[in-house]
Amino acid sequence: MDGVKVEYVSIQDLDGAPGRPALVDPFGRAISYLRVSVTDRCDFRCVYCMAEHMSFLPKADLLTLEELDRLCSAFIARGVRKLRLTGGEPLVRRGIMTLFASLSRHLASGQLDELTLTTNGSQLAKYAEELKAHGVRRINVSLDTLDADKFRAITRWGSLPDVLAGIDVAQAAGLKIKINAVALKGVNEDEFLRLIEWAHGRGMDLTLIEVMPLGEIGEGRLDQYLPLSLVRARLSERYRLDDIDYRTGGPARYVRVAETGGQLGFITPLTHNFCESCNRVRVTCTGTLYMCLGQEDAADLRKPLRASESNDLLFAAIDEAISRKPKGHDFIIDRRHQRPALARHMSVTGG
Ligand code: SAM
Ligand code: SF4
Repeated sequence: MDGVKVEYVSIQDLDGAPGRPALVDPFGRAISYLRVSVTDRCDFRCVYCMAEHMSFLPKADLLTLEELDRLCSAFIARGVRKLRLTGGEPLVRRGIMTLFASLSRHLASGQLDELTLTTNGSQLAKYAEELKAHGVRRINVSLDTLDADKFRAITRWGSLPDVLAGIDVAQAAGLKIKINAVALKGVNEDEFLRLIEWAHGRGMDLTLIEVMPLGEIGEGRLDQYLPLSLVRARLSERYRLDDIDYRTGGPARYVRVAETGGQLGFITPLTHNFCESCNRVRVTCTGTLYMCLGQEDAADLRKPLRASESNDLLFAAIDEAISRKPKGHDFIIDRRHQRPALARHMSVTGG
């Protein structure tokens, strides 16, 4: 750890940021939502997310769990009310339950409204009850298909029965689940009706996501990209889709499917830019703060975090970074733009 001794700072020191205002960016958007990628590693290799042979960060570069706690707590002190742990696969980070356990104090104090995670579900059967005990109420599980062979082809290494078993355990533990499915041309586009019926039949919302051009994956994005405007038009032939105001603090726009009574979300970074109401920033497992998922600009928070036990340097670095939050991103996937818009993979910044 660069020879710097990192200790738990007392909760009082962490949680109070007296005289420090909430984080507001140059466009007047208050930053109330932090996503933290706790590891870049994963037990799957989804074709749209990673190349089959990835090189991962050396463990020494990662923030410790204590440092992650301190970083999250600093953001909470400055007005973040929703915290999502993601990755890579957050549940493969060793000891991750201790981070959930320590962060749950902010739920108890009322400073945090929601502590949640995005997971591929492979480890859910093992951890669902503990997550619930640490105050997690709703989780996102990524699942693109209900066909075991297709699941294996998409995730390369994943097992559908394990994920379905994890979902069973999580629901039995009382966790509310939202399913996220990436819309993949020619792969799962014939399955959306089945996914909707299945998810809504089990009381779970479903959100469809457009493929974003992040990271080199060894395949062309144009082959994968399916505009959700098209999917929505097709679904409208089968269902009545009523626009609703429901928001989870994320970028999805929701409809209610009249026939199932369930909610269906669309995340459309390409066909409809969702940046205007962006309230989010992201931190990687090395403490790099990205002010926008779709831009390269970033700020190193690890250095100020490790430089001193007080949070002054850290707060200054966060303030400076938020003052640079861009208005939005500009993803394009077409024949002229098949290279990744950004070199970094989704597993680095976290979905
Ligand atoms: N491993 C966890 C999981 O899969 O849920 C959390 C991290 S994963 C990077 C978060 C979300 O990003 C997943 O729902 C995944 O499907 C999505 N994702 C990954 N790469 C993507 C891409 N290039 N475009 C759109 N969504 C992507
Ligand atoms: Fe792993 Fe999630 Fe990326 Fe799939 S989408 S490879 S599960 S991080």
